[in-house]
Amino acid sequence: MLKIIRRSRYSEKIDEVVKELKRVGIKVSTHLADRIAYSKDFNPLHLNRLLDYTLPALPDAVAFPENAENVSSIMQIANSYSIPVYVFGGASGVIDGATPYCGGIALSMLSLGKIKIDAERLLVKAGAGVVGGRLEEVLNHKGFTLRHSPQSLYCSTVGGWVATKASGQFSTKYGNIEDILVSLKVVMPDGEIIEAEPLPRRAFIDPNDLFIGSEGIFGIICEATLKIRKIPKKNHKIAFRFDSMDDAVENARKIVQTFKPALLRIFDRLESLKNFNVNGVVMIVMVEGEMADQERDFVLKKVEGEFLGEKPVDDWLEERFNVSDISKFVPLGIIFDTIEVSCSWKNAMEVYRKILKAIRDVDGTLLASCHASHFYEEGLCFYFTFAGVAKNLEEYYREVWKKAMEAALGTASISHHHGIGALRAKWLPKELEGYYLIFRDLKTLFDRRNILNPGKVVDMDCTG
Ligand SMILES: Cc1cc2nc3c(=O)[nH]c(=O)nc-3n(C[C@H](O)[C@H](O)[C@H](O)COP(=O)(O)OP(=O)(O)OC[C@H]3O[C@@H](n4cnc5c(N)ncnc54)[C@H](O)[C@@H]3O)c2cc1C
Repeated sequence: MLKIIRRSRYSEKIDEVVKELKRVGIKVSTHLADRIAYSKDFNPLHLNRLLDYTLPALPDAVAFPENAENVSSIMQIANSYSIPVYVFGGASGVIDGATPYCGGIALSMLSLGKIKIDAERLLVKAGAGVVGGRLEEVLNHKGFTLRHSPQSLYCSTVGGWVATKASGQFSTKYGNIEDILVSLKVVMPDGEIIEAEPLPRRAFIDPNDLFIGSEGIFGIICEATLKIRKIPKKNHKIAFRFDSMDDAVENARKIVQTFKPALLRIFDRLESLKNFNVNGVVMIVMVEGEMADQERDFVLKKVEGEFLGEKPVDDWLEERFNVSDISKFVPLGIIFDTIEVSCSWKNAMEVYRKILKAIRDVDGTLLASCHASHFYEEGLCFYFTFAGVAKNLEEYYREVWKKAMEAALGTASISHHHGIGALRAKWLPKELEGYYLIFRDLKTLFDRRNILNPGKVVDMDCTG
């Protein structure tokens, strides 16, 4: 028997809304199977609850727009009925970002799937619903690549990347999604369609910036124009072993303040043992492109670690989309999650130790480990993994997040690339300080009826 934690407040209106949507030619479903498919994202609390046939919420209907005009019609109708709309890309988000806690309409963006390559301008225009793996395949076929490669490449969408400010495995050299993005087509909460020409830079504040990382609260991304590049012909892979995380991080700083490798990762002792069967701290490096030889020579000359050859890099590349840990842990009643933060070189090791200790100190934690995954001249991203058991898994889980976020605040940013969603919303005011109210005001201005992704990011009502 299916249990729903939060019931919709809009069930009575839905028949009329569906009739209206169909009248303007929108595909829409009220079948239970579709509604279950659009009831949650990949947040582990939802996965654990599924074992008990429990869902956090259910939308009343799922709409399948095929273009920006359809999305605009949906928003106009939703406004006229004051009914919420929750935007879904691949639902691979992990921070309880799209869960339709208030009920209403779930918007599946997956049918906005057009891809158009402009080889001369080195751009690709992609519909918001294009899944990353498909985009990369189409580009590779023509000799191009996006070099945006999140671990969730095969289950996340272009719109989701922009909305969550995603970061890929090669971000150290090629940048995060905001560096790869050139322009957007967006439907505002009132249904207005706005589209920017793909220009290299813009006067005043770039309006595209309002939507990067906005998690669907300011508008619905329908299309993105992104930079592409030729697939690099040459690469070198190198791995090292260090005695401590401190030594490895210091060596990483030396590298990225000289040049940007395509791939750079450092795994603490626990993760090095698990991933490479190495007793120590492993750093993997991949350099690619025209300067690959010179960059390899720099790394070999300057990095003060034990040389491990290229096998650890090959092993990691082979496993880089493997997410089977989740399906191994969840059925055992173990909760498993990751927390990523960004910090500067100045207090990197303090952040690393504080957060790891905060997680380990929570009763029920079975393991807590960390790797450093994205690097900048100014600092880096630490990515913590934890697993735990408890009588009340949800309480345990929330306590870990609370302790980790409190440890991060003041010394680090509470998120590097997974975003805020409902999960991190309560720590955002402290993170943003005075800007928090500005963003709340903007939300009210753009979305007067608060119908687009309500309960997320800057709105703490209506969440689970
Ligand atoms: C195993 C695994 C590995 C992951 N690895 C990475 C990684 O390496 N790097 C990384 O950055 N993230 C990673 N993630 C997180 C997730 O994949 C990203 O956040 C991704 O960008 C979400 O895209 P999506 O299409 O699945 O969005 P969804 O999960 O569907 O939505 C995420 C949020 O964006 C909003 N949204 C979605 N589409 C739109 C749109 N078109 N317009 C407006 N708002 C929209 C939703 O309402 C929601 O708030 C991983 C997740 C998993 C489960």
